Amino acid sequence: MDCSFVLDHLFSYQEKILSGAEIKEFEDHLHSCDNCTRIAAQFENIVTFIDKKKFEEPNPFIKGRTIQRIETELERTKKSPMLQFQKRLQPVIISFLLFMAIVIGYSIGRLIEAGYSSEIAHQNEIQSVKSNLNIKDFIDEDNIFFINH
Ligand SMILES: [Zn+2]
Repeated sequence: MDCSFVLDHLFSYQEKILSGAEIKEFEDHLHSCDNCTRIAAQFENIVTFIDKKKFEEPNPFIKGRTIQRIETELERTKKSPMLQFQKRLQPVIISFLLFMAIVIGYSIGRLIEAGYSSEIAHQNEIQSVKSNLNIKDFIDEDNIFFINH
């Protein structure tokens, strides 16, 4: 059994949707492979981080404001031909962002493989996940919320 099994099943393992035999295979490999142990630990940190963010987010005030902002944005889009053009470009931009996310993910994988300090790799990884998901925006929004009150 090789590393690809672990890498292919990181998410399923995390979500506990593997069969008993698969869990055993997964964990057996972790015990024998430091690299996969490190990747699995980093993956778990990221998932925990995102879960924590998801948990913090349900703030009805922010939610309402976000929906309002989206509606305002949609109104503006209807009126402006330039924004109509941007809207048509959106699928292209999204594909590009997805592609970048894959490239970044792949680069991180390479960094880890290259044996960089796991601490540095971990920081980079969190940082890139944060910027990919625009989590910083939510944090800013929380801060604004607290300053206003
Ligand atoms: Zn491995």
